[in-house]
Amino acid sequence: MYAFAAVVPQRNWCTGEEHIKYWIGDRHCEYQENKIMNILVINCGSSSLKYQLINTDNEEVLAKGLCERIGIDGGMHTYQSKGGDKVKTNVDIPDHTKAVSLVIEALTDSKDGVIGSLSEIDAVGHRIVHGGEKFSKSVVINDEVIAAIKEVSDLAPLHNPANLTGIASCKALMPDVPMVAVFDTAFHQTMPEKAYLYGIPYEYYRKYKVRRYGFHGTSHEYVANRTAEFLGRDIKDMKIIVCHLGNGASVSAVKGGRCVDTSMGLTPLEGLIMGTRSGDIDPAIIGFVAGKENLSIGQMLEVLNKRSGVLGLSDGVSSDFRDLAEAAGSGNAQAAKALETYAYHVAKYIGSYAAAMNGVDAITFTAGVGENNISAREEICGYLTYLGTQIDPDRNNVRGEETVISKDGSKVTVLVIPTDEEMSIARQTAALCR
Ligand code: AMP
Repeated sequence: MYAFAAVVPQRNWCTGEEHIKYWIGDRHCEYQENKIMNILVINCGSSSLKYQLINTDNEEVLAKGLCERIGIDGGMHTYQSKGGDKVKTNVDIPDHTKAVSLVIEALTDSKDGVIGSLSEIDAVGHRIVHGGEKFSKSVVINDEVIAAIKEVSDLAPLHNPANLTGIASCKALMPDVPMVAVFDTAFHQTMPEKAYLYGIPYEYYRKYKVRRYGFHGTSHEYVANRTAEFLGRDIKDMKIIVCHLGNGASVSAVKGGRCVDTSMGLTPLEGLIMGTRSGDIDPAIIGFVAGKENLSIGQMLEVLNKRSGVLGLSDGVSSDFRDLAEAAGSGNAQAAKALETYAYHVAKYIGSYAAAMNGVDAITFTAGVGENNISAREEICGYLTYLGTQIDPDRNNVRGEETVISKDGSKVTVLVIPTDEEMSIARQTAALCR
């Protein structure tokens, strides 16, 4: 783990206020302990930038938005302040620096803005997809951290360079605002070797760090902690399986608050069947189909990432579970087959993680499908009665609410906990910058 910032609390004896002084590289920063903190959370993709401005003292989302089609024709900025209507603006966004400047303009706008000036942004939290083995926690960003993120970019060639562009753009426009990197992979760094090593020549791990990393870590960590809090239990005494079922999907086994296994691997392609990603397959399929269809490895990976999952299984009906449910409901057998196969695979992962932890106290569903798809939860839990899991159909009849959906006598408590990655990034950023 990298520790880059020296933190020194100092009390002002006249006012009694505590100031936290720290240094990022050779730059000196100072924070007042009891000051309200507005954190700008940035999630940068190659052609998009999602953001939220969060007041971490009362956990209010002051504003949120999305810049789309960055560097492509037809740029669009969507902005929404708390309680306000969505404002959509067609605007050319040639690069990420322009996107960040649009964000600042919107947040400080005299009509729809939520802050008076840039100085009211106290810190920026960046979602970074891959931290490799270097980062097991969020860190304050400095030149060394940027270099380390670059170093592991070949593990996430689509994501990390975009994340770095976001950091550079924020740095250019807000040079004195501290920034924090929150990694998708960090929570999973506690996995033991037996969980993260693949059965391939060890030299590939030694030379290239080929191993399981896992993703959606911010969500898994947030949801596991929230599960324990919600049940009024100490996470240290719990075995929790978190099912993050969205368009991308992963399962994690969390024992005593630490991740001990997770379904995504070196990349987010492994594990569950997803919206368009295949999840686990026999790797020999790649060579076999590539030979039959005259495709390169790159083209095969494109098939596995973009044309597989429930989209591929349903014969192209949709990658969206709402569409699939509707199609299955009106008699589309292929859509029904895709949903059935999907649920079966989730249940198999839950079973294997119950084995990995030698038991499970709670199974928690989260993300788009996990929070909203009542029948998917019912179908998945139908495979788990051998664990003593009993779903209550009335309790399960909910969407997007923190709640227990199992019966009172169920040996395993099953819950729905809506994930909130942005809030988690904001909290971690505030904690590191206070
Ligand atoms: P996410 O990637 O977490 O945004 O999840 C996206 C997936 O959640 C899509 O496949 C949606 O169909 C699914 N989803 C979102 N809302 C609902 C809902 N009300 N019912 C069923 N599925 C939903």
